[in-house]
Amino acid sequence: MDTRPSYIVSLFKHKCSRCRTGDMFQTNKVYHLKEFMKMNVRCPACGQLLEIEPGFYYGTSYVSYALTVALSVATLVAWWVTIGLSTTDNRFFWWLGINGVVLLLCQPYLMRLSRSIWLSFFVKYNANWLTEKAEEPERM
Ligand SMILES: [Zn+2]
Repeated sequence: MDTRPSYIVSLFKHKCSRCRTGDMFQTNKVYHLKEFMKMNVRCPACGQLLEIEPGFYYGTSYVSYALTVALSVATLVAWWVTIGLSTTDNRFFWWLGINGVVLLLCQPYLMRLSRSIWLSFFVKYNANWLTEKAEEPERM
């Protein structure tokens, strides 16, 4: 039987992508705005270095952008289906404003989600993470 933790669930819970068990972030409180982005240096479960190289997480802006577009498309479709869109009134602009608020409220969560997706691009799941040591990147 396959007992590996789900890839998708580990992304949404911001788990280390090598073991899918340890937390990437020091706190689980997404809306503690002073500390919600503070990361563990190493995964507390498997020891994987979470910032593989300096500036490693700059690339998350691409992931964050894609998530924002996807969320906006989703709210637009939901708006279109439930409230409708028209060229003769302001319904589109109402969606625009409300979508902006929704994106703002989701931003802290999306920033963390972007980091866990980004890490999973570079660090693959290792079923033997308990016995095998995490790979050490070369540092100058
Ligand atoms: Zn780990």
